[in-house]
Amino acid sequence: MLRLTEVRLPLDHDDAALRLAIADRLGLDPVADWYYRIFRRAIDARKKSAIVFNYSIDIAATNEAEILSRLHGDSHVGRTPDMEYRFVTQAPKTSFVRPVIIGAGPCGLFAALVLAQMGFRPLLLERGKQVRQRTQDTWGLWRRGQLDPESNVQFGEGGAGTFSDGKLYTQIKDPRYLGRKVLTEFVKAGAPAEILYVAKPHIGTFRLVGMVEHMRATIESLGGEIRFQQKVTDFEIENGQLQALHLAGGERLVTNHVVLAIGHSARDTFAKLHARGVFIEAKPFSVGVRIEHPQSLIDRARYGSFAGHPLLGAADYKLVHHCANGRSVYSFCMCPGGTVVAATSEAGCVVTNGMSQYSRNERNANSGIVVGITPADYPDGPLAGMKFQRHWESRAFEVGGGNYAAPVQRVGDFLAGRASTALGAVIPSYKPGVHPTDLSRCLPDYAVAAIREALPAFDRQIRGFALQDAVLTGVETRTSSPLRLRRNGEFQSINTAGLYPAGEGAGYAGGILSSGVDGIKVAEAVALNLVCNQ
Ligand code: FAD
Repeated sequence: MLRLTEVRLPLDHDDAALRLAIADRLGLDPVADWYYRIFRRAIDARKKSAIVFNYSIDIAATNEAEILSRLHGDSHVGRTPDMEYRFVTQAPKTSFVRPVIIGAGPCGLFAALVLAQMGFRPLLLERGKQVRQRTQDTWGLWRRGQLDPESNVQFGEGGAGTFSDGKLYTQIKDPRYLGRKVLTEFVKAGAPAEILYVAKPHIGTFRLVGMVEHMRATIESLGGEIRFQQKVTDFEIENGQLQALHLAGGERLVTNHVVLAIGHSARDTFAKLHARGVFIEAKPFSVGVRIEHPQSLIDRARYGSFAGHPLLGAADYKLVHHCANGRSVYSFCMCPGGTVVAATSEAGCVVTNGMSQYSRNERNANSGIVVGITPADYPDGPLAGMKFQRHWESRAFEVGGGNYAAPVQRVGDFLAGRASTALGAVIPSYKPGVHPTDLSRCLPDYAVAAIREALPAFDRQIRGFALQDAVLTGVETRTSSPLRLRRNGEFQSINTAGLYPAGEGAGYAGGILSSGVDGIKVAEAVALNLVCNQ
């Protein structure tokens, strides 16, 4: 197959126009016997007066060698790389120790799936509930202000990304195309096939629920086992070797191959790992607020007269500003046409994040506006970043009124340094409610100063971004893991053999796709270790 890139066509083109454009570029007869499939379709909106689709296309033709030699030197034509996923090994026919995975987020699910596909019949332990029950508990916080600390936005089947925008792109290096394996499995589990070729795919929260259930069924059909409401509470380690796990119900599980895919919010588990001597180090992350604008404002700023075009959907943005105080402020997890969600897993804390449905047709656009921070800002040891998060999350809880309402402020008031006492035209979407106040009370001064400097700068890139009535909701603290469980070349903890830290919580991924990819890599390492040490 050949890959042809930079095929640019107006939004309203039809399939025939695409075929003609390919034929023209490759010197093919449009009606001859060759076929194509879209590898990637991106929107190029740099010129608002002429927004186009930019395609990368894979083509199968009988004269591929001739085309390549004729177009030698054209950097937009080449061989299609081999993106097929191949298992690194298979489970032995003789008996073997079943690997254990802790956490049924994207990382744990993909580790379990790939181990199951290789025949290793993994055991997956999840502290939260099955996704449908978990959905009800999560709505309990959003509707009634009742938090279940074991079943919420962070904890339960599907992990943190289940109630999300379901954005499925990442900037990780992926020479083995493991991201493609993740997307392909998602499509098998019910995701729209377009995620395989749209440049910025997203699924939306409703579909994710069904997909997670489908993945569970697949893992079980391959001999895997998934246990819910099974929190791992302790780790038995002897002479640097993991020996057993303890579960909340009192069970002791003997095992020496454990994938630790617990996400970034399992603070009790991190504390236990630290107490047991597992090597942990603090790492940088980001804190800030969520901002909400009318989606129509973002659409107009990004797409001009094309705003509202059905093929474009709700517009997104990505912004970054380097501040005079040396900090960087950037937009994080932008959710077009979505809602701001209450994302705490700990009682007495308020945390924001964003989600949307596949249609992305809610009235507001939201995004984290966050400031990069480093262990120099929380210098007191490996768990200090976690404590820092908790401190500001509980401040947000208090400032919001102590009932899980979030503190909010109009952008105009925030920039003028005065508390908000009422809201304007932009109605915040956060549930169970909001409390207008002064957000500088629940963020460090340097973060407030950096965001105050960044908003007018962002307004120069997206007109209206610093709209007086745009709403800021606090606080966005769980942007990535505040710590890392460093691992060696075999993906095991550098001081605890048999423990395979993985995914976002371990500090090796950020987002659904990269967590899934990390889950695959770690599953491969576990499988190879099991086979080699037979
Ligand atoms: P997690 O998904 O956090 O899963 C960890 C699992 O481990 C949890 O289910 C937890 O219950 C379980 N667990 C923890 N401790 C224990 C224990 N001791 N015993 C047993 N089980 C345990 N990313 C994107 O790429 N796109 C998005 O659009 C997006 N939107 C998001 C929206 C929201 C509201 C949130 C909260 C996150 C969003 N993210 C998004 C981030 C994404 O969800 C995470 O990066 C990803 O889920 C991390 O995957 P993970 O498997 O490493 O960890």
